[in-house]
Amino acid sequence: MALHEQQHIGRNGLASAFRWSILLNTALSVVQLLVGTAFGSLALVGDAVHNLGDVAGLGLGWGRSGSPPVRQRSASPTALAAAPSWQPLPMAC
Ligand SMILES: [Zn+2]
Repeated sequence: MALHEQQHIGRNGLASAFRWSILLNTALSVVQLLVGTAFGSLALVGDAVHNLGDVAGLGLGWGRSGSPPVRQRSASPTALAAAPSWQPLPMAC
């Protein structure tokens, strides 16, 4: 298969990929919630909640995938000066 063909899976392939990802992540989350609750594993329950967040993100991405691409605006010096300075949040990983 040519490289060009590998890069474009098309709308049907994209919808299928989103559908399967959402289905499998939801199924994994349900199993993790059930097993985690049954055995009192906070790690499994926490990962299940994380995976449900992934499912929400996939749903948003799937909904956005049918929309036209967002145009990038060039930032003017004034816009850059007015932009807030984002500080990295401390994270516990
Ligand atoms: Zn994740």
